[in-house]
Amino acid sequence: MPKIEKASRSESSAVAPTDLVECADCGRLMSPRAVRCPHPQCAAFRVLCKVCSRAIPAGDMIGNRPGFTFHRRCIEGKFKIPRNVTCPDCRKALHSLVTLEQLVKRLDHCPSCGSPWPLLEPAKCGDCGLPIYSFQKTVREMRRGYEIGDPIHLFCRPDQESKNAEDQRKTRERTRGIQFATAMSLLGLICGTFGFFGVLFTHLIPLGPIAFILGLLATRMSDRYSESLPAAGWAMAIGILDSLACLGGFLSQ
Ligand SMILES: [Zn+2]
Ligand SMILES: [Zn+2]
Ligand SMILES: [Zn+2]
Ligand SMILES: [Zn+2]
Repeated sequence: MPKIEKASRSESSAVAPTDLVECADCGRLMSPRAVRCPHPQCAAFRVLCKVCSRAIPAGDMIGNRPGFTFHRRCIEGKFKIPRNVTCPDCRKALHSLVTLEQLVKRLDHCPSCGSPWPLLEPAKCGDCGLPIYSFQKTVREMRRGYEIGDPIHLFCRPDQESKNAEDQRKTRERTRGIQFATAMSLLGLICGTFGFFGVLFTHLIPLGPIAFILGLLATRMSDRYSESLPAAGWAMAIGILDSLACLGGFLSQ
């Protein structure tokens, strides 16, 4: 049996007597933080529904992964087959033939004619472990612009789409930042290369310090995006060498 609430004393303060909740199985009052009903004849686990956050009576529970259990009535709508979906062989409308229990277990044949996978072979939801059918909306977690992990029912992670949008925004910002830092390092390398001529032509002397500053800014920027940019390091090093060479040339005159 899945457990959802961990018994903890430290986190929440004591609950007033009026806040006691009814046991979903026997109806007697119990603490909302109780892991299971304290009445020995009942002793049902207190399992909460992912959709409505209320306790589920044992006979009404769909799903068995901790955190992904549902009331039958709360999940019925999410597994409702659209009216126009028919069996490919007997052409009967599947919504009137298939029960929620059959869908939750994986519908592997048409109950009327036995046609295999009338709704195509479902994927398994990465969160609740129940099948995902083609008529259900899904999401996948995105990290740095790439989809990772298994497909998930949208009703299991209602906030995932907005999280993905945020990930894509951050990825675009990161790409732009790294492009900008690369451009700065390349400019720094060009300045550094011409900066050596500062030994001969005094008006080129500022190019050394400029190369160093560009390299430094590019390094700090790439660090922010945890990317290593060797060109930035070289721009800094050449900038220092330029400056030292020009200083040496100036002193020796
Ligand atoms: Zn009880
Ligand atoms: Zn519910
Ligand atoms: Zn059929
Ligand atoms: Zn799911």
